Amino acid sequence: MSFSLREPAVDSMEEKCTFCKIIRGEASADFLYQDESLVVFKDIRPHAPVHLLIVPREHIRGINDLKEKDRNIISKMVFTAKEMAKEHSVAQSGYRLAFNVERGGGQVIFHLHLHLLGGW
Ligand code: AMP
Ligand code: ZN
Repeated sequence: MSFSLREPAVDSMEEKCTFCKIIRGEASADFLYQDESLVVFKDIRPHAPVHLLIVPREHIRGINDLKEKDRNIISKMVFTAKEMAKEHSVAQSGYRLAFNVERGGGQVIFHLHLHLLGGW
């Protein structure tokens, strides 16, 4: 008898997740950057002239769900944000990086993402 390694509940979460849909190409977003572990696209409701989302391809629910294995992706997200800030000409003027955590912290999409806001 064989068992699936993935829990059905997780499968259905990823099925419905807006950012997983974008990453699978089932919902539209223009990737400003992408590699094997993350993608970057514009926030659909920008709160700043430059408002980008740095999003791991893997479905991680949020900061409270991080595991030891996620150290590398968090580090990579921050370094990618730094590069994107330079590319979008906000590095010198200044920018804000934000993780919203849980509903009380403003998290609406439960797929880990880092906001990059700047260009005011
Ligand atoms: P948070 O409040 O941290 O969960 O942020 C989620 C962000 O995702 C919000 O700023 C939304 O405007 C943005 N967002 C939601 N759906 C989309 C989408 N389809 N494409 C781009 N950004 C989105
Ligand atoms: Zn997801």
